[in-house]
Amino acid sequence: MALDPGRVVFQLRELQKLTGDEHGAQRVAWTPTWDEARKWLGSKLEALPLEYEVDEAGNQWWTLRGESDRAVLLGGHIDSVPNGGWLDGCLNVVAAVEVLRGIAEAGPPPVTVRLVNWADEEGARFGRSLFGSSAAAGSMADQDDLRALHDREGVALPDALREHGVDLDNAIAARSQLEGAAAYLELHIEQGPVLESMELPLGAVLGTFGVERYRIIWRGQAAHAGSTPMDQRRDALAGAAKLALELREIAKRVGGGAVLTSGGVVCRPGIVTSVVETAEQLLDMRHLDAEKLAAMWEQVREACERFAQEERLEVEYERIWEIEPILFDETLVGFADEAIREVVGTSHKLPSGPLHDAAEVSRAGVPTVMIFVQSLRGLSHTKLEDTKPEHIELAVQALDRLADKTIARVAAA
Ligand SMILES: [Zn+2]
Repeated sequence: MALDPGRVVFQLRELQKLTGDEHGAQRVAWTPTWDEARKWLGSKLEALPLEYEVDEAGNQWWTLRGESDRAVLLGGHIDSVPNGGWLDGCLNVVAAVEVLRGIAEAGPPPVTVRLVNWADEEGARFGRSLFGSSAAAGSMADQDDLRALHDREGVALPDALREHGVDLDNAIAARSQLEGAAAYLELHIEQGPVLESMELPLGAVLGTFGVERYRIIWRGQAAHAGSTPMDQRRDALAGAAKLALELREIAKRVGGGAVLTSGGVVCRPGIVTSVVETAEQLLDMRHLDAEKLAAMWEQVREACERFAQEERLEVEYERIWEIEPILFDETLVGFADEAIREVVGTSHKLPSGPLHDAAEVSRAGVPTVMIFVQSLRGLSHTKLEDTKPEHIELAVQALDRLADKTIARVAAA
């Protein structure tokens, strides 16, 4: 049977009906609805000659044995954020079902082809994203932190995992799944406005942004809002406010898609009658180029020192989290670009702002690439998330061609 991209759209709607409600998708990992979605996914693959297993981190694997053990992986995540969209994550696995069906029906492939549904990409319940893929990639170094995580109801992460058959202490044994992996392909919605603004349905993804997150603490002096003249204040919020605006200039100077966000400022004492004594400001910076990312931080530091002096404040920095930029495989990016051109005539190469499971797989040394399909209004992680059905169909065709090219390349290697 030929590839049927329309079936992917139909099945995505079916999944949304089954596991969503009027507020959006509810497939939060380690919940009964997630289980239901995972079973549903299995039911779509039942008729195919696949081996099925769940690894130590809860990732689902379907394997179509080929003439060689070298494996091409197609992957995604069926979990969603609460009140999520109908495409984030599940598009990749449902499209991969269709592509895998086509490959299986053509007889044994020259290489092994596997579909993986990563467990808990979103980290929506416990705040730790990329759970299953980081376990498989061997980069889950934070097991002690994970043991201490609780959800809003006070349930500990290890207990929730155990209910779903996963032993946290053993999760990193999932690493063996990537042995023999020769390529990893992932289709995802863009979750941003770039492709739509260019009026292009599809793009080849160059890699994922490096991310650095800091807490910047400004210290001034609390003082009475009525009795303290304006020129005698040491207002910690003034430092934070100046930096928030300076981020735009830094992004312009660094260029190349630099993004900097001050996502929150907590002021103390935080009352209407006092000048702000301390302002704790959150900063997130992203770039595809490690050197540019370092330059951004240098410029932020320089700006902070300048504003501290101007406002007579003290300023301190705490690094919260970081991940280096991850560049996808050049050959596979070329294949993705070619596949997109074949299907829609024009392609565009773009970086990914959000992290994806593909970043973990790539970090583990497996040649990786992603295809993005246009997101309407750039919205995601909301029930308003949407993509035109005809674009989804084009995306499935492009993924199919990318898989063909990749299989041929791995078979020839
Ligand atoms: Zn996703």
